[in-house]
Amino acid sequence: MDEISKAVKEHTFGTWRKQKDWNPLTVTRAEGVYFYDSRGKKYLDLSSQLVNVNLGYGNKRVIESIKEQLDKIQYISPAFATEVRMTAVKSLIKVMPKGITKFFFSTSGTEANEAAVKITRLAKNPKYKIIARYRSYHGSTYGSVSLTGDYRRWFAEPHTLGGVVRIPEPYCFRCPLKLKYPECNLACANYVDYVIKNEHNVAGIIVEPITGTNGVIVPPKDYLTTVRKIAKENDVLFIADEVMTGWGRTGEWFAVNHWNIEPDIITTAKSATASYVPIGITGVSKEIGDFFEDNLFAHGHTFEAHPVTLSAIPAVIEEFERLGILSHVNAIGKYVADRLSELKERHKSIGDIRGMGLFWAIEFVRDKKNTPFATYDDKFNGNSSDVDKIAKRLLDEGVYVFNGPSWFIISPPLIITKEEIDEGIDKIDKVVSDLD
Ligand code: PLP
Repeated sequence: MDEISKAVKEHTFGTWRKQKDWNPLTVTRAEGVYFYDSRGKKYLDLSSQLVNVNLGYGNKRVIESIKEQLDKIQYISPAFATEVRMTAVKSLIKVMPKGITKFFFSTSGTEANEAAVKITRLAKNPKYKIIARYRSYHGSTYGSVSLTGDYRRWFAEPHTLGGVVRIPEPYCFRCPLKLKYPECNLACANYVDYVIKNEHNVAGIIVEPITGTNGVIVPPKDYLTTVRKIAKENDVLFIADEVMTGWGRTGEWFAVNHWNIEPDIITTAKSATASYVPIGITGVSKEIGDFFEDNLFAHGHTFEAHPVTLSAIPAVIEEFERLGILSHVNAIGKYVADRLSELKERHKSIGDIRGMGLFWAIEFVRDKKNTPFATYDDKFNGNSSDVDKIAKRLLDEGVYVFNGPSWFIISPPLIITKEEIDEGIDKIDKVVSDLD
Protein backbone atom coordinates (compact mmCIF):
# COMPACT_ATOMS: atom_id res chain seq x y z
CA MET A 1 0.00 0.00 0.00
CA ASP A 2 1.26 3.47 -0.84
CA GLU A 3 0.83 6.62 1.26
CA ILE A 4 -2.47 7.50 -0.43
CA SER A 5 -4.15 4.14 0.00
CA LYS A 6 -2.94 3.90 3.61
CA ALA A 7 -4.42 7.31 4.50
CA VAL A 8 -7.64 6.57 2.64
CA LYS A 9 -8.02 3.22 4.40
CA GLU A 10 -7.18 4.60 7.83
CA HIS A 11 -9.46 7.63 7.76
CA THR A 12 -12.37 6.75 5.47
CA PHE A 13 -14.71 3.78 5.21
CA GLY A 14 -14.56 1.07 2.60
CA THR A 15 -18.24 0.45 2.00
CA TRP A 16 -20.16 -2.83 2.18
CA ARG A 17 -17.19 -4.72 3.61
CA LYS A 18 -15.21 -5.44 6.75
CA GLN A 19 -12.51 -2.79 6.93
CA LYS A 20 -9.73 -5.33 7.45
CA ASP A 21 -10.51 -6.76 4.01
CA TRP A 22 -10.12 -3.41 2.27
CA ASN A 23 -6.85 -2.55 0.58
CA PRO A 24 -7.81 0.14 -1.90
CA LEU A 25 -5.79 0.48 -5.07
CA THR A 26 -4.63 4.06 -5.67
CA VAL A 27 -5.97 5.30 -8.99
CA THR A 28 -4.27 8.36 -10.41
CA ARG A 29 -5.88 8.91 -13.80
CA ALA A 30 -8.35 7.50 -16.30
CA GLU A 31 -9.00 7.84 -20.00
CA GLY A 32 -11.42 6.23 -22.44
CA VAL A 33 -12.13 2.73 -21.07
CA TYR A 34 -8.95 2.49 -18.98
CA PHE A 35 -7.80 3.67 -15.56
CA TYR A 36 -4.24 3.71 -14.17
CA ASP A 37 -2.79 3.04 -10.73
CA SER A 38 -0.04 4.99 -8.97
CA ARG A 39 2.63 2.74 -10.52
CA GLY A 40 1.31 3.52 -13.99
CA LYS A 41 -0.29 0.08 -14.45
CA LYS A 42 -3.22 0.14 -16.88
CA TYR A 43 -6.62 -1.49 -16.19
CA LEU A 44 -9.42 -2.13 -18.64
CA ASP A 45 -12.67 -1.13 -16.96
CA LEU A 46 -15.04 -3.92 -17.93
CA SER A 47 -17.77 -2.82 -15.49
CA SER A 48 -17.84 0.99 -15.89
CA GLN A 49 -17.01 1.05 -12.15
CA LEU A 50 -20.46 0.61 -10.56
CA VAL A 51 -22.15 0.38 -13.97
CA ASN A 52 -22.11 4.15 -14.27
CA VAL A 53 -19.26 5.59 -16.34
CA ASN A 54 -21.24 4.99 -19.52
CA LEU A 55 -19.37 7.53 -21.69
CA GLY A 56 -16.01 6.39 -20.39
CA TYR A 57 -13.42 8.70 -18.88
CA GLY A 58 -12.36 12.13 -20.11
CA ASN A 59 -15.22 13.10 -22.44
CA LYS A 60 -14.15 16.65 -23.30
CA ARG A 61 -17.58 17.98 -24.25
CA VAL A 62 -19.19 16.93 -20.99
CA ILE A 63 -16.25 18.34 -19.04
CA GLU A 64 -16.46 21.67 -20.94
CA SER A 65 -20.16 21.97 -20.28
CA ILE A 66 -19.59 21.55 -16.52
CA LYS A 67 -16.74 24.08 -16.55
CA GLU A 68 -18.82 26.63 -18.45
CA GLN A 69 -21.59 26.35 -15.89
CA LEU A 70 -19.10 26.91 -13.05
CA ASP A 71 -18.20 30.21 -14.70
CA LYS A 72 -21.86 31.24 -14.92
CA ILE A 73 -23.56 30.28 -11.67
CA GLN A 74 -22.24 27.81 -9.13
CA TYR A 75 -25.23 27.52 -6.82
CA ILE A 76 -28.67 28.98 -6.37
CA SER A 77 -31.54 27.76 -4.21
CA PRO A 78 -33.80 25.30 -6.05
CA ALA A 79 -36.67 27.76 -5.52
CA PHE A 80 -35.24 29.87 -8.39
CA ALA A 81 -35.40 29.16 -12.12
CA THR A 82 -32.16 28.84 -14.10
CA GLU A 83 -31.47 28.47 -17.79
CA VAL A 84 -29.48 25.30 -17.15
CA ARG A 85 -32.51 23.74 -15.45
CA MET A 86 -34.71 24.56 -18.44
CA THR A 87 -32.15 23.14 -20.89
CA ALA A 88 -31.71 19.99 -18.82
CA VAL A 89 -35.43 19.21 -18.65
CA LYS A 90 -35.99 19.95 -22.32
CA SER A 91 -33.26 17.47 -23.27
CA LEU A 92 -34.49 14.92 -20.75
CA ILE A 93 -38.06 14.95 -22.05
CA LYS A 94 -36.69 13.98 -25.48
CA VAL A 95 -35.06 10.78 -24.21
CA MET A 96 -37.30 9.75 -21.31
CA PRO A 97 -39.97 7.06 -21.77
CA LYS A 98 -43.18 8.50 -23.23
CA GLY A 99 -45.33 10.40 -20.73
CA ILE A 100 -42.58 11.38 -18.26
CA THR A 101 -42.67 15.16 -18.21
CA LYS A 102 -41.79 16.43 -14.74
CA PHE A 103 -38.63 15.90 -12.69
CA PHE A 104 -37.24 16.11 -9.20
CA PHE A 105 -33.44 16.32 -9.16
CA SER A 106 -31.27 15.03 -6.34
CA THR A 107 -27.72 13.70 -6.08
CA SER A 108 -27.96 9.90 -6.06
CA GLY A 109 -30.02 6.92 -7.10
CA THR A 110 -30.83 6.34 -3.45
CA GLU A 111 -32.37 9.80 -3.13
CA ALA A 112 -34.19 9.39 -6.44
CA ASN A 113 -35.93 6.31 -4.99
CA GLU A 114 -36.62 8.01 -1.66
CA ALA A 115 -38.39 10.75 -3.60
CA ALA A 116 -40.27 8.18 -5.70
CA VAL A 117 -41.67 6.53 -2.57
CA LYS A 118 -42.69 9.83 -1.05
CA ILE A 119 -44.33 11.04 -4.27
CA THR A 120 -46.19 7.71 -4.59
CA ARG A 121 -47.47 7.90 -1.04
CA LEU A 122 -48.48 11.55 -1.35
CA ALA A 123 -50.23 10.98 -4.66
CA LYS A 124 -52.02 7.79 -3.58
CA ASN A 125 -52.77 8.72 0.03
CA PRO A 126 -54.29 6.91 2.01
CA LYS A 127 -52.81 3.96 0.10
CA TYR A 128 -49.22 3.56 1.26
CA LYS A 129 -47.82 0.07 0.64
CA ILE A 130 -45.00 -0.40 -1.84
CA ILE A 131 -44.26 -3.74 -3.48
CA ALA A 132 -40.59 -4.52 -4.14
CA ARG A 133 -38.68 -7.69 -5.01
CA TYR A 134 -36.37 -9.83 -2.88
CA ARG A 135 -33.53 -9.71 -5.35
CA SER A 136 -33.26 -5.98 -5.68
CA TYR A 137 -31.11 -3.04 -4.76
CA HIS A 138 -32.73 0.38 -4.55
CA GLY A 139 -30.28 2.32 -2.41
CA SER A 140 -28.72 2.60 1.01
CA THR A 141 -30.65 5.11 3.14
CA TYR A 142 -33.62 4.26 5.32
CA GLY A 143 -36.44 4.36 2.77
CA SER A 144 -34.59 3.01 -0.25
CA VAL A 145 -32.76 0.33 1.73
CA SER A 146 -36.14 -0.78 3.03
CA LEU A 147 -37.29 -1.35 -0.54
CA THR A 148 -34.09 -3.29 -1.21
CA GLY A 149 -34.67 -7.03 -0.90
CA ASP A 150 -31.02 -8.04 -0.45
CA TYR A 151 -30.84 -8.50 3.33
CA ARG A 152 -27.09 -7.84 3.45
CA ARG A 153 -27.99 -4.20 2.92
CA TRP A 154 -30.62 -3.69 5.63
CA PHE A 155 -29.85 -6.23 8.38
CA ALA A 156 -28.77 -3.51 10.81
CA GLU A 157 -32.09 -1.68 10.43
CA PRO A 158 -34.46 -4.08 12.17
CA HIS A 159 -37.31 -1.61 11.88
CA THR A 160 -37.15 -0.81 8.19
CA LEU A 161 -39.72 1.48 6.62
CA GLY A 162 -43.23 0.11 7.21
CA GLY A 163 -45.49 -0.83 4.35
CA VAL A 164 -42.98 -2.56 2.07
CA VAL A 165 -44.22 -5.91 0.74
CA ARG A 166 -41.73 -8.14 -1.06
CA ILE A 167 -42.36 -10.53 -3.91
CA PRO A 168 -40.19 -13.13 -5.70
CA GLU A 169 -38.26 -12.13 -8.78
CA PRO A 170 -38.27 -13.59 -12.31
CA TYR A 171 -34.92 -15.35 -11.86
CA CYS A 172 -35.44 -18.26 -14.24
CA PHE A 173 -31.96 -19.74 -13.72
CA ARG A 174 -32.81 -20.29 -10.03
CA CYS A 175 -36.57 -19.85 -9.97
CA PRO A 176 -37.66 -18.92 -6.43
CA LEU A 177 -40.97 -20.74 -7.10
CA LYS A 178 -39.12 -23.79 -8.44
CA LEU A 179 -41.00 -23.55 -11.74
CA LYS A 180 -39.84 -23.63 -15.36
CA TYR A 181 -40.50 -20.97 -17.98
CA PRO A 182 -42.72 -20.95 -20.08
CA GLU A 183 -44.76 -23.76 -18.43
CA CYS A 184 -44.93 -21.58 -15.31
CA ASN A 185 -47.27 -19.18 -17.15
CA LEU A 186 -45.43 -16.33 -15.47
CA ALA A 187 -46.66 -17.31 -12.01
CA CYS A 188 -44.33 -14.74 -10.42
CA ALA A 189 -45.87 -11.90 -12.46
CA ASN A 190 -49.47 -13.01 -11.97
CA TYR A 191 -48.90 -13.35 -8.22
CA VAL A 192 -48.57 -9.54 -8.11
CA ASP A 193 -52.33 -9.24 -8.68
CA TYR A 194 -53.01 -11.52 -5.70
CA VAL A 195 -50.61 -9.54 -3.50
CA ILE A 196 -52.13 -6.19 -4.45
CA LYS A 197 -55.70 -7.37 -3.83
CA ASN A 198 -54.86 -8.97 -0.50
CA GLU A 199 -52.60 -6.22 0.80
CA HIS A 200 -55.43 -3.85 -0.05
CA ASN A 201 -53.55 -0.55 0.48
CA VAL A 202 -50.91 -0.82 -2.22
CA ALA A 203 -49.82 2.54 -3.66
CA GLY A 204 -46.92 1.47 -5.91
CA ILE A 205 -44.68 -1.27 -7.18
CA ILE A 206 -40.98 -0.68 -7.81
CA VAL A 207 -38.91 -2.86 -10.11
CA GLU A 208 -35.50 -2.75 -11.71
CA PRO A 209 -36.57 -3.67 -15.29
CA ILE A 210 -33.42 -5.80 -15.41
CA THR A 211 -32.17 -6.54 -11.91
CA GLY A 212 -28.66 -5.11 -11.68
CA THR A 213 -26.45 -5.56 -8.63
CA ASN A 214 -28.12 -8.84 -7.75
CA GLY A 215 -27.01 -10.54 -10.93
CA VAL A 216 -28.34 -8.94 -14.15
CA ILE A 217 -31.63 -10.82 -14.14
CA VAL A 218 -33.34 -10.32 -17.51
CA PRO A 219 -37.05 -11.09 -17.09
CA PRO A 220 -38.80 -13.50 -19.47
CA LYS A 221 -40.57 -11.94 -22.43
CA ASP A 222 -43.97 -10.95 -21.03
CA TYR A 223 -43.06 -10.49 -17.38
CA LEU A 224 -42.79 -6.70 -17.29
CA THR A 225 -45.78 -6.02 -19.52
CA THR A 226 -47.86 -8.34 -17.32
CA VAL A 227 -46.78 -6.59 -14.12
CA ARG A 228 -47.33 -3.18 -15.73
CA LYS A 229 -50.87 -4.22 -16.77
CA ILE A 230 -51.69 -5.59 -13.32
CA ALA A 231 -50.49 -2.34 -11.70
CA LYS A 232 -52.68 -0.24 -14.01
CA GLU A 233 -55.76 -2.41 -13.48
CA ASN A 234 -55.38 -2.07 -9.73
CA ASP A 235 -54.62 1.67 -9.74
CA VAL A 236 -51.12 1.07 -8.42
CA LEU A 237 -48.22 3.25 -9.62
CA PHE A 238 -45.54 1.45 -11.61
CA ILE A 239 -42.08 2.74 -10.65
CA ALA A 240 -39.17 1.75 -12.90
CA ASP A 241 -35.83 1.96 -11.10
CA GLU A 242 -33.49 2.62 -14.02
CA VAL A 243 -30.56 3.80 -11.93
CA MET A 244 -28.41 1.07 -13.45
CA THR A 245 -30.29 0.13 -16.63
CA GLY A 246 -30.77 3.68 -17.92
CA TRP A 247 -28.65 5.74 -20.29
CA GLY A 248 -28.09 3.32 -23.14
CA ARG A 249 -26.81 0.47 -21.01
CA THR A 250 -29.19 -2.08 -22.55
CA GLY A 251 -29.26 -0.62 -26.08
CA GLU A 252 -32.22 1.73 -25.50
CA TRP A 253 -32.18 5.02 -23.63
CA PHE A 254 -34.09 3.22 -20.87
CA ALA A 255 -34.68 -0.51 -20.47
CA VAL A 256 -38.49 -0.19 -20.25
CA ASN A 257 -38.41 0.85 -23.93
CA HIS A 258 -37.61 -2.76 -24.89
CA TRP A 259 -41.12 -3.65 -23.74
CA ASN A 260 -42.84 -0.37 -24.74
CA ILE A 261 -43.68 0.25 -21.12
CA GLU A 262 -44.70 3.71 -19.95
CA PRO A 263 -43.95 3.86 -16.23
CA ASP A 264 -45.80 6.28 -13.93
CA ILE A 265 -42.51 7.11 -12.23
CA ILE A 266 -38.94 6.50 -13.34
CA THR A 267 -35.82 6.90 -11.27
CA THR A 268 -32.36 7.23 -12.70
CA ALA A 269 -28.93 8.54 -11.69
CA LYS A 270 -25.39 7.29 -12.34
CA SER A 271 -24.77 8.05 -16.02
CA ALA A 272 -27.22 10.91 -16.54
CA THR A 273 -24.16 13.10 -16.03
CA ALA A 274 -21.70 10.46 -17.30
CA SER A 275 -20.97 10.25 -13.54
CA TYR A 276 -18.70 13.31 -13.75
CA VAL A 277 -20.94 15.02 -11.17
CA PRO A 278 -23.42 13.33 -8.79
CA ILE A 279 -27.05 13.07 -9.89
CA GLY A 280 -30.40 11.52 -9.03
CA ILE A 281 -33.55 12.02 -11.11
CA THR A 282 -37.14 11.15 -10.26
CA GLY A 283 -39.34 11.60 -13.35
CA VAL A 284 -43.13 11.47 -13.16
CA SER A 285 -46.12 11.46 -15.53
CA LYS A 286 -48.15 14.60 -16.18
CA GLU A 287 -51.00 13.15 -14.12
CA ILE A 288 -48.80 12.81 -11.05
CA GLY A 289 -47.21 16.21 -11.68
CA ASP A 290 -50.67 17.78 -11.89
CA PHE A 291 -51.73 16.21 -8.60
CA PHE A 292 -49.29 18.50 -6.81
CA GLU A 293 -50.84 21.69 -8.25
CA ASP A 294 -53.26 21.63 -5.36
CA ASN A 295 -51.40 19.36 -2.98
CA LEU A 296 -48.22 20.05 -1.06
CA PHE A 297 -45.06 18.66 -2.69
CA ALA A 298 -43.56 17.87 0.70
CA HIS A 299 -39.96 17.16 -0.30
CA GLY A 300 -36.66 18.89 -1.14
CA HIS A 301 -32.88 19.15 -0.63
CA THR A 302 -30.29 21.96 -0.58
CA PHE A 303 -28.45 20.36 -3.50
CA GLU A 304 -31.62 19.59 -5.45
CA ALA A 305 -31.41 20.80 -9.09
CA HIS A 306 -27.81 21.90 -8.57
CA PRO A 307 -26.80 24.01 -11.60
CA VAL A 308 -23.40 22.35 -11.99
CA THR A 309 -24.97 18.89 -11.92
CA LEU A 310 -27.66 19.81 -14.40
CA SER A 311 -25.16 21.30 -16.85
CA ALA A 312 -23.85 17.82 -17.68
CA ILE A 313 -27.20 16.35 -18.76
CA PRO A 314 -27.68 18.07 -22.16
CA ALA A 315 -24.01 17.48 -22.98
CA VAL A 316 -24.35 13.76 -22.22
CA ILE A 317 -27.41 13.47 -24.45
CA GLU A 318 -25.64 15.34 -27.28
CA GLU A 319 -22.63 13.05 -26.94
CA PHE A 320 -24.84 9.96 -27.11
CA GLU A 321 -26.28 11.29 -30.37
CA ARG A 322 -22.97 12.48 -31.85
CA LEU A 323 -21.24 9.19 -31.08
CA GLY A 324 -24.22 7.02 -32.12
CA ILE A 325 -24.04 5.23 -28.76
CA LEU A 326 -27.32 3.33 -28.97
CA SER A 327 -26.60 1.70 -32.32
CA HIS A 328 -23.03 0.97 -31.20
CA VAL A 329 -24.32 -0.75 -28.03
CA ASN A 330 -26.75 -2.87 -30.05
CA ALA A 331 -24.09 -3.95 -32.50
CA ILE A 332 -21.29 -4.61 -30.04
CA GLY A 333 -23.75 -6.12 -27.54
CA LYS A 334 -24.44 -8.91 -30.05
CA TYR A 335 -20.71 -9.55 -30.30
CA VAL A 336 -20.42 -9.74 -26.49
CA ALA A 337 -23.37 -12.15 -26.42
CA ASP A 338 -21.63 -14.42 -28.96
CA ARG A 339 -18.32 -14.36 -27.15
CA LEU A 340 -19.90 -15.09 -23.77
CA SER A 341 -21.99 -17.94 -25.21
CA GLU A 342 -18.84 -19.44 -26.60
CA LEU A 343 -17.14 -19.14 -23.18
CA LYS A 344 -20.12 -20.87 -21.58
CA GLU A 345 -19.78 -23.78 -24.01
CA ARG A 346 -16.14 -24.32 -23.05
CA HIS A 347 -16.07 -23.62 -19.29
CA LYS A 348 -17.92 -26.03 -17.08
CA SER A 349 -17.85 -23.49 -14.22
CA ILE A 350 -20.04 -21.08 -16.22
CA GLY A 351 -23.66 -21.99 -15.48
CA ASP A 352 -25.44 -19.09 -17.12
CA ILE A 353 -24.82 -15.95 -19.11
CA ARG A 354 -27.56 -13.37 -19.48
CA GLY A 355 -27.91 -9.78 -20.49
CA MET A 356 -28.83 -7.19 -23.08
CA GLY A 357 -26.81 -4.53 -24.87
CA LEU A 358 -23.70 -3.97 -22.78
CA PHE A 359 -25.20 -5.26 -19.53
CA TRP A 360 -24.25 -8.89 -18.86
CA ALA A 361 -23.67 -11.36 -16.06
CA ILE A 362 -21.60 -14.52 -16.08
CA GLU A 363 -22.92 -16.77 -13.31
CA PHE A 364 -20.47 -19.38 -12.08
CA VAL A 365 -21.43 -22.79 -10.73
CA ARG A 366 -19.53 -25.46 -8.83
CA ASP A 367 -21.05 -28.48 -10.54
CA LYS A 368 -23.69 -29.81 -12.91
CA LYS A 369 -26.36 -29.20 -10.24
CA ASN A 370 -25.58 -25.49 -10.59
CA THR A 371 -24.39 -25.15 -6.99
CA PRO A 372 -23.34 -21.51 -6.56
CA PHE A 373 -19.76 -20.68 -5.59
CA ALA A 374 -21.05 -18.58 -2.72
CA THR A 375 -24.43 -17.62 -1.35
CA TYR A 376 -25.60 -14.34 0.13
CA ASP A 377 -25.15 -15.96 3.54
CA ASP A 378 -21.50 -16.66 2.75
CA LYS A 379 -20.97 -13.04 1.71
CA PHE A 380 -22.93 -11.83 4.72
CA ASN A 381 -20.60 -13.78 6.98
CA GLY A 382 -17.64 -12.17 5.27
CA ASN A 383 -16.36 -15.28 3.49
CA SER A 384 -14.45 -14.57 0.33
CA SER A 385 -15.60 -16.82 -2.52
CA ASP A 386 -13.56 -18.35 -5.32
CA VAL A 387 -15.32 -15.91 -7.64
CA ASP A 388 -13.90 -13.01 -5.56
CA LYS A 389 -10.46 -14.56 -5.94
CA ILE A 390 -10.88 -14.86 -9.70
CA ALA A 391 -11.97 -11.20 -9.89
CA LYS A 392 -8.84 -10.30 -7.94
CA ARG A 393 -6.69 -12.35 -10.34
CA LEU A 394 -8.33 -10.60 -13.23
CA LEU A 395 -7.40 -7.26 -11.69
CA ASP A 396 -3.80 -8.45 -11.47
CA GLU A 397 -4.09 -9.19 -15.21
CA GLY A 398 -5.27 -5.59 -15.76
CA VAL A 399 -9.04 -6.09 -16.10
CA TYR A 400 -11.58 -4.75 -13.62
CA VAL A 401 -14.96 -6.44 -13.12
CA PHE A 402 -17.55 -5.79 -10.46
CA ASN A 403 -18.54 -9.16 -8.98
CA GLY A 404 -21.29 -10.61 -6.81
CA PRO A 405 -21.10 -13.80 -4.69
CA SER A 406 -21.30 -16.05 -7.76
CA TRP A 407 -21.14 -13.81 -10.81
CA PHE A 408 -19.24 -11.13 -12.70
CA ILE A 409 -21.02 -8.13 -14.14
CA ILE A 410 -19.74 -7.26 -17.61
CA SER A 411 -20.86 -3.70 -18.33
CA PRO A 412 -18.04 -1.71 -19.94
CA PRO A 413 -18.25 1.96 -20.91
CA LEU A 414 -20.55 2.17 -23.92
CA ILE A 415 -17.76 3.57 -26.10
CA ILE A 416 -15.78 0.33 -25.90
CA THR A 417 -14.42 -1.09 -29.16
CA LYS A 418 -14.43 -4.70 -30.37
CA GLU A 419 -10.66 -4.95 -29.77
CA GLU A 420 -11.07 -3.76 -26.17
CA ILE A 421 -13.91 -6.26 -25.61
CA ASP A 422 -11.64 -9.00 -26.93
CA GLU A 423 -8.85 -7.93 -24.58
CA GLY A 424 -11.22 -8.22 -21.58
CA ILE A 425 -12.97 -11.44 -22.57
CA ASP A 426 -9.68 -13.17 -23.52
CA LYS A 427 -8.40 -12.48 -20.02
CA ILE A 428 -11.62 -13.71 -18.44
CA ASP A 429 -11.27 -16.86 -20.54
CA LYS A 430 -7.77 -17.34 -19.17
CA VAL A 431 -8.51 -16.84 -15.45
CA VAL A 432 -11.83 -18.69 -15.42
CA SER A 433 -10.02 -21.90 -16.38
CA ASP A 434 -8.90 -21.99 -12.73
CA LEU A 435 -12.51 -22.46 -11.60
CA ASP A 436 -13.25 -25.33 -14.00
N1 PLP B 1 -31.10 1.60 -7.68
C1 PLP B 1 -30.36 0.75 -8.41
C2 PLP B 1 -31.04 -0.17 -9.38
C3 PLP B 1 -28.97 0.73 -8.27
O1 PLP B 1 -28.26 -0.14 -9.00
C4 PLP B 1 -28.37 1.62 -7.35
C5 PLP B 1 -26.91 1.62 -7.18
O2 PLP B 1 -26.18 0.81 -7.68
C6 PLP B 1 -29.19 2.50 -6.62
C7 PLP B 1 -30.55 2.46 -6.82
C8 PLP B 1 -28.58 3.45 -5.65
O3 PLP B 1 -27.92 4.46 -6.35
P1 PLP B 1 -26.77 5.31 -5.63
O4 PLP B 1 -25.64 4.39 -5.37
O5 PLP B 1 -26.46 6.40 -6.63
O6 PLP B 1 -27.35 5.88 -4.39
